[in-house]
Amino acid sequence: MRISLVLGDITQQQVDAIVNAANSSLLGGGGVDGAIHRKGGPAILEECRKLRASHYGKGLATGQAVATTAGNLPARWVIHTVGPVYSATDDRSELLASCHHQSLRIADELGAQTVAFPAISTGIYGWPMASAAEIALQAVRSASTRVAEVRFVLFDREALSAFESQNPA
Ligand code: ADP
Repeated sequence: MRISLVLGDITQQQVDAIVNAANSSLLGGGGVDGAIHRKGGPAILEECRKLRASHYGKGLATGQAVATTAGNLPARWVIHTVGPVYSATDDRSELLASCHHQSLRIADELGAQTVAFPAISTGIYGWPMASAAEIALQAVRSASTRVAEVRFVLFDREALSAFESQNPA
């Protein structure tokens, strides 16, 4: 598997699947979630509503992932995963790793070869960027998957350099 790190907007990526840092309601939110729904259009939210009604009445659990189509986005699918809220006293690293493993498992089910991830949990959920980068890269490297390229799409230079420090070229 190839791992690449790019500065950019995940909604513009030409990949088979992009991962959304969703919340458990699946009904949209701020940050990357808001951008995906805004640019992808109402079809994604409609599918999320149906998934919620059929399977996730109590919400999608932290660390789990589920896919919808990608509406008007260039990707084919959106894989929604719920990152853990950062806690300084409770180690939730396994849940953050699980977001990556479960997203790649869903990608395999879809037959997606190229998958773009944002820096899950590092926005509203408060995870320190360097720690999130280490966990995300380790989780992806250790995954057994048929995905050929994982692209981390970092929204600013600070995020990009945090990931670069954990993934020397
Ligand atoms: P969470 O609730 O999991 O913390 P956020 O969406 O608040 O999710 O933030 C996750 C990360 O995504 C942050 O580092 C934020 O800067 C970044 N981000 C926000 N919008 C985009 C976007 N359009 N493309 C890529 N990354 C984004």
